[in-house]
Amino acid sequence: MKARAVATLKPKEENRLLLGHPWAYDNEIASVSGNPQAGSEVSLRSARGKNLGTAIWSPVSKIRARRYTWADEELDGSFIRAAVAKALARRAPFRDTANDSMRAVFAEADGLPGLIVDRFVGTGSDGSKGSWLSVQILCAGMDARRELILDALKDTLRPDGIMERSDAPVRSFEGLPAVSGVVAGSVPERIQIIENGLRFSLCLGHGQKTGWFLDQRENRAASAAWARGKAVLDVFSNAGGFALAAAKAGAESVLAVDSSADAIAELKANAALNGLQGRVSAVEANAFDWLREAQARKEHYGLVILDPPAFAKNKASLDGAMRGYKEINLRALHLLEDGGILASFSCSFWLSRDRFRLALESAAADAHVNLRYLDERGQAPDHPVLAGYPESSYLKGCVVQVERR
Ligand code: SAH
Repeated sequence: MKARAVATLKPKEENRLLLGHPWAYDNEIASVSGNPQAGSEVSLRSARGKNLGTAIWSPVSKIRARRYTWADEELDGSFIRAAVAKALARRAPFRDTANDSMRAVFAEADGLPGLIVDRFVGTGSDGSKGSWLSVQILCAGMDARRELILDALKDTLRPDGIMERSDAPVRSFEGLPAVSGVVAGSVPERIQIIENGLRFSLCLGHGQKTGWFLDQRENRAASAAWARGKAVLDVFSNAGGFALAAAKAGAESVLAVDSSADAIAELKANAALNGLQGRVSAVEANAFDWLREAQARKEHYGLVILDPPAFAKNKASLDGAMRGYKEINLRALHLLEDGGILASFSCSFWLSRDRFRLALESAAADAHVNLRYLDERGQAPDHPVLAGYPESSYLKGCVVQVERR
């Protein structure tokens, strides 16, 4: 076996890695033996020579090394195949891994840094039944192993087609270009999946992120449980995951708001697909403007769902993001009737659960309402949260009941 490069951390920088965090940052590394290239395997050592596992090297990224194993082993085709198989086995207790749409691989949290695989099971627009993958390759080490990854996914998941969606902005931090397109088999223009007993039509090529926000599946069902008989408002609705779940659960009416014309068109098509078009209406609007205007019109709702995009994309934007979260929550609280329910989400890792609650509670103070927490939510369990790696925990939600003072 060829000699592997060794990256040695500065004194006392090993604790985070020992606690489970898989990254070594550029400023934590004291020295590197050998001359690792983008994607090379590198042994990680503490200053005292303690093993910290084997990582893939990213020479241009601040995240200089990403550990994929504690052992001394290569990141080759058989490693990737075994890791994908383990990820599926891990999900078997709570998902029907043969028949369900799900996130099959969640990057570092599944031991495959920078690799995300969503598996969609359903019917193609051409009427064919099948399963298709939407894949994101986000770091240099995985980008260098693109063919091995695709082969491993074909072997383990036997998809009818694979769509690559490596068009996330984080690729630029790794010096990688944005790429997307069909990379194996064929992928129908549209796919119809079933979620919580509802049909949704999605487009793996053009939808936001990998095509469908699978991480909100359980939260859509949990929010819908409060919808019966209520006027429901779904803000940042995208293609209607929450709105349709609420309508199916017996909401009296559902209004969805999103600024994307495509999302609104998809939502309407999805409502029709489920025979719910009579009870779901949709508005294309900027949520901030729309909420302010709805407040001026003195509209009232029994259940409001807020699921905005990540306002905090990094630490520096956190303060501005806090103001954004507070503003939409404040407006939503004004729109809720006494006893009404707010299901509020944030998918920004940078906004901690505590800060998120703070945004909600300071909105409540300004709106002169008392809040009671009914439920605290996270991401679907096929997006596992790896202990010691807080970055894997990004989605948080609070379901609160409003009492007017
Ligand atoms: N709730 C959705 C996911 C929401 S993703 C689901 O369950 O699938 C965030 C959505 O916010 C996207 O659809 C995006 O188009 C929309 N969005 C982003 N900025 C917005 C704004 N200022 N006003 C309204 N919608 C916005």
